Amino acid sequence: MDGKMITDTKAQDTRLPVVVIVGAGFGGLQTARKLAKAPLRVTLLDKRNYHLFQPLLYQVATAGISPGEIAHPVRGILGQQKNFQFHMAEVRQFDFDQRRVITGAGSFDYDYLVIAVGAETNYFGIESVRRNALNMKDLDDAIDIRNKVLCSFELADQESDPAIRRELLTFVVVGGGPTGVETAGALSELIRLVLVKDYPDLDLNEVRIVLLEASDQILAGFPVHLREKAVKTLEGKHVEVSCRTAVQGFNGKTVILKDAAPLQARSMIWAAGVRAASLLDQSGIQQGRQGRLVVKPTLQLEAHPEVFVIGDAAYLEAHGQPLQMMATVAMQQGASVAENIQRLVRKEPLKDFRYKDPGSLATIGRNQAVIRLGRLSFSGFIAWLIWVVVHIYRLIGFRSRFLVMIDWIWDYFMYERGIRLITPYGRRCAEEQDERSA
Ligand SMILES: Cc1cc2nc3c(=O)[nH]c(=O)nc-3n(C[C@H](O)[C@H](O)[C@H](O)COP(=O)(O)OP(=O)(O)OC[C@H]3O[C@@H](n4cnc5c(N)ncnc54)[C@H](O)[C@@H]3O)c2cc1C
Repeated sequence: MDGKMITDTKAQDTRLPVVVIVGAGFGGLQTARKLAKAPLRVTLLDKRNYHLFQPLLYQVATAGISPGEIAHPVRGILGQQKNFQFHMAEVRQFDFDQRRVITGAGSFDYDYLVIAVGAETNYFGIESVRRNALNMKDLDDAIDIRNKVLCSFELADQESDPAIRRELLTFVVVGGGPTGVETAGALSELIRLVLVKDYPDLDLNEVRIVLLEASDQILAGFPVHLREKAVKTLEGKHVEVSCRTAVQGFNGKTVILKDAAPLQARSMIWAAGVRAASLLDQSGIQQGRQGRLVVKPTLQLEAHPEVFVIGDAAYLEAHGQPLQMMATVAMQQGASVAENIQRLVRKEPLKDFRYKDPGSLATIGRNQAVIRLGRLSFSGFIAWLIWVVVHIYRLIGFRSRFLVMIDWIWDYFMYERGIRLITPYGRRCAEEQDERSA
C-alpha cells in the first residue's frame, strides 16, 4: 500500500481543521457546498472525476440524452470554493484510529471524516446474473445498455432464424421499482416510436419487453391506485408486467425463473436492487440492512464521533423503517452533517437528523407519471409535467438543464432519439456476428 501522504496545494490556513469527504455524489457534494464559508479545510475524494445525476441514467440507456448532460466534473462544480480541494482517488481503507483515509494515490489525514460512498448493484448472490446481465449504476453501464439494445436490433435485422431473432428482440428488465418501471417504459417508446422507423424490415410483433418483479407489486411505496395505473400504462406500451416472478439465473440466452418456465432472451437489465458500497464491509463498523453502516441520529459513528456517514452508505431508521436510498435523503443528510461538523468545532451540542419527505415520483414515458406528495397522489399529464420540471431543475448547471430541455422538446415533437449510437460496444456486436457466421 502506498504510504505517500497527500497535502493540500491551495494556499490555505494550515491551522484550520481538515474535513475529508469521501464521495462526490449527492450527499458528499452537498456537504462540501454547505461548508463553503466554514473555517475549515475541505478535501473531497472520489474515484471518478465527476458527479453523476443517477435518476436520469435510464435516459442515457434509452438514447434520450447524452452522457455529458448528467455528469459534471467535480472541479468545475466546486473549484471556485476557496476552502476546497478535490483529488481523484479510490479509497481502499479507513484507519479510524489514526484518523487517516488510505487511497490508491496516497493517504489523507483528517480531523473530521464524512463517508458518502453510495451504493453498488446488488445481485443477491446470483453469480450468473452478475456475469451476464446489464446494470444501471454508472455512466458506462447506461452506455452498455444503449449499445446492447441497438446492437440487438442490428443483429436481428440480419438474422434469418425467427427463434434467434425473437431472442435478440426480447428485453427483460428485472425490478419493479422506479428505475425498472422508467426503463421499461422508455425502452418501449424507443422501440415503438423510433427504432420502428430505423428497421422497417423487422416485425414489431417479435419484440418483447418483460418487466419482472419478485414481490407481488411494482412501485412499492406508491399508493395502490397509482401502482395499478402504472401497470395499465406499461401494458398499454406493450410491456409485459410479471409480478411474483423471481429470477434465479441468466446465462446470456435463457432467464431461469422460480416457479415459471424459462424465458429466452439475450438482454437482461438488472434494476432489482442496490447495497452499500462493499468497501464498507471491511470497516469493522456494525452494518444494517443492505450493508449500510449503522449511525447515530446525528449521523456519527458510535465509536468515532468525528466520523459521519451519509446517504446510501448510512443506516438510520425513522418511524421504525430504514431511510430509503434516495438522492433527497443523501442531500438532506449532507446539509445536516455540514452543520453538525461546525457545531462540533464550536463545541456546541449536535442536532439529530430529521428527514423531510418531499414525496416521490416516477415517469412511465410520454405524458405519464405517478406522483406522491404527502397525502396527495395522482398520475397523468400534469404529474408528467411536474416530473419534467423537477428533473430539469435538479440537474447541475445551466448548460445541462438547457441541453436536456432541448433534447426532450425535440424528442417529444419529432418522435426522435438523437443519440442512437453504438459506441465501443460495436466491437462486441461485430464479434457476435463473426461467431455466428463461423
Ligand atoms: C438508476 C438510478 C435511478 C435513481 N433514481 C432516483 C430518483 O429518481 N430519485 C432519488 O431520490 N433517488 C434516485 N436514485 C438513488 C440515488 O441516486 C441515490 O440514493 C443517491 O445517489 C445516494 O447519494 P450518495 O451521496 O449516498 O451516493 P452517490 O450519489 O452514489 O455517490 C457516491 C460517490 O462515491 C464515490 N465512491 C464510491 N466508492 C468510492 C471509493 N472507494 N473511493 C472514492 N470514491 C468512491 C462514487 O464514485 C460516487 O461519486 C437512483 C439511483 C439509481 C442507480
